[in-house]
Amino acid sequence: MEIHKTTGIALSSIASGEADIICNYFTRDSGKRKFVFKGLKKSKKRSLAATEPGAVANLVYYHREDRDIFIVNDSSVEKYFPSITANLQKIFHLYFILECVEKTSGYDMADESIFILLLSGIEVLSKTDYPAHLSSFFTLRLLNHHGILPDIQACKICGKRQFGSFTMDVLDLRPVCGSCLGENPSGPWQRSAMLPGSIRGYLTACTTQKFSALDPGRYPENDILDLVFNLSMFIENYFHTDLKSKSFILSNRYR
Ligand SMILES: [Zn+2]
Repeated sequence: MEIHKTTGIALSSIASGEADIICNYFTRDSGKRKFVFKGLKKSKKRSLAATEPGAVANLVYYHREDRDIFIVNDSSVEKYFPSITANLQKIFHLYFILECVEKTSGYDMADESIFILLLSGIEVLSKTDYPAHLSSFFTLRLLNHHGILPDIQACKICGKRQFGSFTMDVLDLRPVCGSCLGENPSGPWQRSAMLPGSIRGYLTACTTQKFSALDPGRYPENDILDLVFNLSMFIENYFHTDLKSKSFILSNRYR
């Protein structure tokens, strides 16, 4: 058994047994990994801070090739984000981007660029006044990184690139323009939300510009939440999963 060190971002944690905490991290060098903190819940000396979702933690752990859960020997918090934890809306968006990473990443598949994307996403979330925009931006970037973001400019039925309001097919995320929707009201797009034509410019901007260059005030939050709804439906369908945290950020709009 060897001692290894890594840095990871806590994705989610659960109590296990009497006193253990099991925490999934996205680590810089090994991708998503499951760790157990033995006795942490009852420890008076050690803090739970390293296992709080969104915390960036340095971990020292026992490594064994044949294990799928690693025992933490020592931990420290490298970075945490008090401006998120003081703001309920930001907490919900934090949970959402963490869950998007957790549910779309396999265990032990190293991908440092996702670590960097997630770390910068959390840092931007801590500062921005537009958390819903950040969630949509982050999700689009993540899907693009996974290589599953399609051509989001052409209607998937008529192929036109000029149209106003549109919806998105939850099976492949491709746009369906308003007139095609009128002719084909039933299909995999019937549950997704309609979006105004201006969101197409937003989609392009999200994949080509930094978040700081976006001018989020131009795009109403309600439209952005509709976009997040469509993105969530696509992720759930594509990865055969359930994004539990979406209900927090979309609770006023859908049930
Ligand atoms: Zn069309």
